[in-house]
Amino acid sequence: MEIRNKEVDTSTKVNAKFRNFPMVPRVIFGKGSFDQLGEILLPKRKNSEAPMIYLIDDVFEGGSLISRIPRFPNDQIIFISADEEPKTAQVDFLTDGIRSQFSQLPSGIVGIGGGTLLDLAKAVAIMLNNEGRSQDYQGWDLVKQPAIYHVGIPTISGTGAEVSRTTVLLGPEKKLGINSDFTPFDQVVLDPDLTKGVAKDQWFYTGMDCFIHCVESLNGTFLNAFSQSYGEKALELCKEVYLEDLEDADARDKLMMASWHGGMSIAYSQVGVAHAMSYGLSYLLGVRHGIGNCLVFQHLEEYYPEGVALFHAMRKKHQINLPKGICSDLTDSDYDIMIRVALSLEPLWENALGKEWRSIISPEKLKAIYQKI
Ligand code: NAD
Ligand code: ZN
Repeated sequence: MEIRNKEVDTSTKVNAKFRNFPMVPRVIFGKGSFDQLGEILLPKRKNSEAPMIYLIDDVFEGGSLISRIPRFPNDQIIFISADEEPKTAQVDFLTDGIRSQFSQLPSGIVGIGGGTLLDLAKAVAIMLNNEGRSQDYQGWDLVKQPAIYHVGIPTISGTGAEVSRTTVLLGPEKKLGINSDFTPFDQVVLDPDLTKGVAKDQWFYTGMDCFIHCVESLNGTFLNAFSQSYGEKALELCKEVYLEDLEDADARDKLMMASWHGGMSIAYSQVGVAHAMSYGLSYLLGVRHGIGNCLVFQHLEEYYPEGVALFHAMRKKHQINLPKGICSDLTDSDYDIMIRVALSLEPLWENALGKEWRSIISPEKLKAIYQKI
């Protein structure tokens, strides 16, 4: 199985001298903005045979949000668990199911949830208009036809999946995103009230994904004014949210915008050591993205001294106790696998440590860090 950098394009095309990447063309922000969804979707509805398909995190099943969905008779709601990361087989199953039920393509796909549901919505929207299986499109710029209209509605803040050009999928052979100009959402609805029910630990882990995006982008050798401007803003917002005593509503607003800006920052730079090593954990042990980043980042004071000090201050303030002993039973060959996966993410190391990164980092150093987790 192959693991490649999940969040940032590393293709030759986007590694051309200047990246020319698409942005989300329409976004609406504000508490209660979800209730404008009906109005937003109306002009996109083709006819009664072309419904809107809602892919919704099953945590909302039976809750009040569902009664607020602007639902026309043929529209369909599909509840999906976010307990596992999205898989290519799951995308194909959803796509086949939708195709078999309707005589024409749906008017659109609306994803409601965290990074997991947002990634599924992007992938299904692409696959409905492209032949073959989703695993054929894992990589860079392999998608031939535009995705159908797709809308992203985050219900937890941090990953930046709402702005990114990728959708991360676990396939039979590799864990890799569908990175393409057709991947970004056509419309994003940022309603901070939708994040109200998030459990505290999850709020911390997914929010720290954003914080770590900022630290890795701002301390990387790929930094430029574009990334810096977004990264600094996102970092400032994360500090306010996690270190000050904001009103809950203010904190929700600010974390949602931090996620957006953090995603924009890495779109034009790169992540670094924590993400590289977190992919090793995820590959071998299935550790989820947000918590995996935290587990690694807490031990990276050598590379990100200020960021790690801030991280510990935030963790203490919110009384988050990270699990311990995750790697305690691993064999030498397990460590070798994680180290191989981590070191294969070359652009992340180059961003973090410069062109000479191979002389700075070593398998022994990585092993010593993994052993602390
Ligand atoms: P998630 O979607 O995995 O959800 C985490 C948990 O929070 C789930 O249990 C979910 O049910 C719950 N949840 C979400 N919203 C809730 C709410 N309002 N109330 C109560 N519970 C709620 O979380 P995530 O951290 O946003 O996403 C992680 C995924 O995102 C990973 O699969 C990762 O690979 C992917 N990712 C994608 C990108 C990208 O650019 N495409 C970037 C980073 C991460
Ligand atoms: Zn991340």
